[in-house]
Amino acid sequence: MLAPIGAVDAVHLAHMQVEMFDFFDMFTFFSLMVGCCVGSFANVVIHRFSSGKSIVTPRSHCFSCGTNLKWRDMIPVISWLMLKGRCRFCDATISKAYPIVEIVCALLFALMATYLGASLSVFPLWGLAFVLLSVAVIDWKSLTIPDGLLIVGVISGLIWVGLSYGESKWVDAFFGIIAGALPLFLIDQLVWILAKKPGFGFGDVKLMGMSGIFLGWQYVYIAFFVAFIMGGLWGAWLLITKKAQRDNYIAFGPFLCFGILVALLYSL
Ligand SMILES: [Zn+2]
Repeated sequence: MLAPIGAVDAVHLAHMQVEMFDFFDMFTFFSLMVGCCVGSFANVVIHRFSSGKSIVTPRSHCFSCGTNLKWRDMIPVISWLMLKGRCRFCDATISKAYPIVEIVCALLFALMATYLGASLSVFPLWGLAFVLLSVAVIDWKSLTIPDGLLIVGVISGLIWVGLSYGESKWVDAFFGIIAGALPLFLIDQLVWILAKKPGFGFGDVKLMGMSGIFLGWQYVYIAFFVAFIMGGLWGAWLLITKKAQRDNYIAFGPFLCFGILVALLYSL
């Protein structure tokens, strides 16, 4: 007896759905969603730190007209698209940086989830991703690295090491802090002695010390390697195109953050 065509299609379709479900698994989807929301929070942190305001108060509002935002205006990415990048009340342009930070955060979360699979260890890595993204943008905009974010990074790092197997991880982390912080600290001192001006900010020193907890002394140098090459190329490009003078400061934090991410994925 012939099966009705509809029934065959339904079985076939169900099979296809299962395959797609495997490919784009539930945990990746969950990671993207959580990443979007944490990215939205990162936007708040970035804005408040860059403008020197408190994180908790006041409520989220339009930076142009000050109107408090409704929940429907605060859905990550979606709201920005729905509003076509403009405030519902005063029509002021909302920077593309907001959805970009949310999307980058979502992709970082999914990337780490893909590397680790569904395990508890993914949570401290998400903590690190949030810190790196926020630090990179804040340092880029205002040449400062807030201690509060580094503390979140340190706590995430301790959880990360605590969840890994083996006592040697604590030793790796301890020497990782030194391997991360010491080189920048020494260069900083050297520049200070030779040129009587700060080389790297102390924020960079602390950032690399924090990264050492995650990377261990074995992988910190990869973060430096990537950061110095990229930062060097960027600096050279700024000089060649005369967008900066030789004695201008450029934010090194974003390059360090990118280096830390590369080193971390390499170490996994
Ligand atoms: Zn407005």
